[in-house]
Amino acid sequence: PERRPVASMAHLEGLNDEQRKAVIHEDGPLLVLAGAGTGKTRVLTTRIAHLLITGRTRPSQVLAVTFTNKAAREMLDRVAQLIGGAADGMWLGTFHSVGVRILRRHAELVGLKSNFTILDTDDQTRLLKQLLQAEGIDDKKWPARVLSGIIQRWKDRALTPNKVTGEDAGEFANGKAAEIYRQYQTRLAEVNAVDFGDLVMLCVTLWQQHPDVLEQYHRRFRHILVDEYQDTNVAQYLWLRLLAQGTRDVCCVGDDDQSIYGWRGAEVGNILRFEKDFPGAEIVRLERNYRSTPHILAAASHLIAHNEGRLGKTLWTDVKEGERISVRGVWDGDEEARTIGEEIEALQRDKHPLSQIAILVRAGFQTREFEERFITLGLPYRVIGGPRFYERQEIRDALAYCRVTVQPDDDLAFERIYNTPRRGLGESALRTLRLIQRAQRVSLFEAARRALETDELKPRPRKLLGDLIKSFERWRDMLDGINHVEVVETMLDESGYTDMLRADRSPEAEGRLENLKELTNALQEFDTLPAFLEHVALLTDNAEKAGGDMVSVMTLHAAKGLEFDTVFLPGWEEGLFPNQRALDDKGLAGLEEERRLAYVGLTRARKRAYVSFAANRRVFNQWQAAIPSRFLRELPTGHLAESSDAGLYATYSAGHHAGLREQASGFDYENLGVTGRSAFGGNRSRTRWRDETFDDRRAVEGDKPDLTVGQRVFHQKFGYGRILAVDGNKLDIDFEKAGPKKVLDSFVDAA
Ligand code: ATP
Ligand code: MG
Repeated sequence: PERRPVASMAHLEGLNDEQRKAVIHEDGPLLVLAGAGTGKTRVLTTRIAHLLITGRTRPSQVLAVTFTNKAAREMLDRVAQLIGGAADGMWLGTFHSVGVRILRRHAELVGLKSNFTILDTDDQTRLLKQLLQAEGIDDKKWPARVLSGIIQRWKDRALTPNKVTGEDAGEFANGKAAEIYRQYQTRLAEVNAVDFGDLVMLCVTLWQQHPDVLEQYHRRFRHILVDEYQDTNVAQYLWLRLLAQGTRDVCCVGDDDQSIYGWRGAEVGNILRFEKDFPGAEIVRLERNYRSTPHILAAASHLIAHNEGRLGKTLWTDVKEGERISVRGVWDGDEEARTIGEEIEALQRDKHPLSQIAILVRAGFQTREFEERFITLGLPYRVIGGPRFYERQEIRDALAYCRVTVQPDDDLAFERIYNTPRRGLGESALRTLRLIQRAQRVSLFEAARRALETDELKPRPRKLLGDLIKSFERWRDMLDGINHVEVVETMLDESGYTDMLRADRSPEAEGRLENLKELTNALQEFDTLPAFLEHVALLTDNAEKAGGDMVSVMTLHAAKGLEFDTVFLPGWEEGLFPNQRALDDKGLAGLEEERRLAYVGLTRARKRAYVSFAANRRVFNQWQAAIPSRFLRELPTGHLAESSDAGLYATYSAGHHAGLREQASGFDYENLGVTGRSAFGGNRSRTRWRDETFDDRRAVEGDKPDLTVGQRVFHQKFGYGRILAVDGNKLDIDFEKAGPKKVLDSFVDAA
């Protein structure tokens, strides 16, 4: 028989008393309730290691869940490090990944086969649309995407079709939403598929209906650990409660101040109810913060103290002073990106690894300006929790429209948007086009033109395709006379693309519309559509070369649980952060959730936090004056280093800023089409005051003389050089230090 060596307790070294107590606690349920950076996750991983090292358990008896794949990976690494090897057989993952694993094993019991597929939201919507149509429900009035969101919320609350009441279902689809939900679940089973929400909900159903199966898991999982407990929704909570009936060893860790998924049905109440749910529970509070400097900690604590609904807690650190939090006002988003780029380069020169730097934004669209800046600077970056801006689905779709308009022979682009949004052009018509394309060696677009002159297509696709081709020709003609930004706006409106997104009330869709708006902002920086497309092509080309040490760019939501030496928090403006929806909210709930997000953001920083706000944001064709976020006022001045950029901003902040604060009412998202008829229509004119500042600024920039061959110039990244050739907006320059390079003229100034 194998002899177990006397376990080393090295993993307990360095823990403080409370942490140690939580790690070795043996009798019964345990809740670690503590602020950011106090070592909750560390306690959790050390606790797993402790269970294994002391031989109290085998890896297969441990179940640990957390919220993101990244967090799960980091926890696994951490445990492996502590025990000096992989914990084979341990279940450590997200609720979803563990859910899939369980469902595959017992698929038949919930009416599936074990090789079921997991649908994405597009598939989900398509299926719902079919069901709506079959019921004779007008899916213009009651869009499938909206229903998909409603069903998702039901699933977040573990409401199976049987449990949905008339009240839950409301008016939607003439009161038939619950019925369609039932059909949808039946249909999913028929095609052997599940959606994301099922991964948790079906486990609950499975265990409720098959106590014997639940018992298997009770026998298996002797130790259950949950990170970020404050963000569990009802379905996840039920899931846990059922599993936890089998053991008293349940350890949850969380922080009520970091509950940021209320909008996805998370119930911070779960954490407050822990003692009731798990009788005899021990509650450990951790107060020492190991992550951040006192300035960062003080600022975050002070800010979060403005929330009413909280448990309240003290945090302290004995880290040395460190830098104050930098609060910077800039002129606009462009300047914000430039300043942050410069700061990162300065850090890089001081040998700070880029992987220790993060930019945390409130909304996905904000990443665009940073991405472009980083690409210009040659700073490697990665977008965490989502694709890079120009790789996002809606951006690629919009770019595909632009590409076909400029260059109809772009087959890849044409195929991409041929039936997006769905316009009833199916595979069979496309097959016909492909045949013509091959036989006559022409592009798909040209094939379509030719097909329209024949009877190869059935009347309906022929009509639809004819409309599409005519539209593209019209947009192309418009480019001759009308500003290209407007043409793109028209294109996205007339093609039905924005309508498609607008019909979708989910938070994701709102983000997509914002991304499209941001795309038009990017377009403004170019004189023509082809110049813009070229710019994008160069960007994507550049981006692929990045590797290794990189700056992280992500939303605040995606940053939960992570930490970085340096954190940049841009866009602290009313209407952006806190976002407009929270401001429109009658109650305080929305605003308090935004404030918790700000707390999460600040507490990601170990050493340095840089908060910034812009005085102006360009949204569509308009410049909008922005007012600094109320959260800035809630930071304690004694811990801040405030600065405003010299130059324009200072000039205006002295003269006009007082007026600006009075006149501006934050972002005018109302006019951005989220609610209006046309995403790109509405009020295009800028207010007079904003107009003036806009034009003044342009005049300053407009002074840039034409660039000619032989001229000596200065490039932001490569320094001085001489122009060898000019090709549209691209320049070949022989740089004095960097050698010959192809660059865009917008980054070059006469020396
Ligand atoms: P969050 O609420 O943000 O998820 P957390 O409470 O989970 O934070 P951890 O990420 O576990 O905090 O810990 C924060 C940092 O402090 C980590 O770098 C961790 O390694 C370090 N840390 C935690 N406890 C100790 C300790 N006893 N000694 C030294 N460093 C520690
Ligand atoms: Mg944590």
